[in-house]
Amino acid sequence: MELDKNCIFCRIAAGEIPSDKVYEDEQVVAFKDLNPQAPVHVLVVPKAHFATLAEMGEEGAELVKHAMQVIPQLAKRLGLAGGYRLIVNQGADAGQTVMHLHIHLLGGTPLGEKIV
Ligand code: 5GP
Ligand code: ZN
Repeated sequence: MELDKNCIFCRIAAGEIPSDKVYEDEQVVAFKDLNPQAPVHVLVVPKAHFATLAEMGEEGAELVKHAMQVIPQLAKRLGLAGGYRLIVNQGADAGQTVMHLHIHLLGGTPLGEKIV
């Protein structure tokens, strides 16, 4: 999977665009959302470019698995002992605006309004 020069999250992952990073390893990067919807709002992003789970493939699946393994320890470090919510918007009806798969990690307050 190649980096996409036109993709903002590829460019953040490559360090070409600055971000407030809270975690990084070879496979994923996590940084603060520019427009936070909760006291803690971090985007956990596989470094390889794929837009949605439908395009993930085997390589992408390994990265998503790794992201899911990283999230509990990251949440702990971010002080989210009381819990947190993960959201992965997929496509237009979900309001996905950046077409590079990302996991929203939200917390730091009781998350009241629930869709599920
Ligand atoms: P989506 O709607 O695609 O699930 O979420 C995209 C998220 O990316 C939004 O919450 C938006 O605030 C965030 N975002 C968009 N551009 C940037 C950026 O350049 N830097 C950071 N840190 N967040 C961004
Ligand atoms: Zn990308």
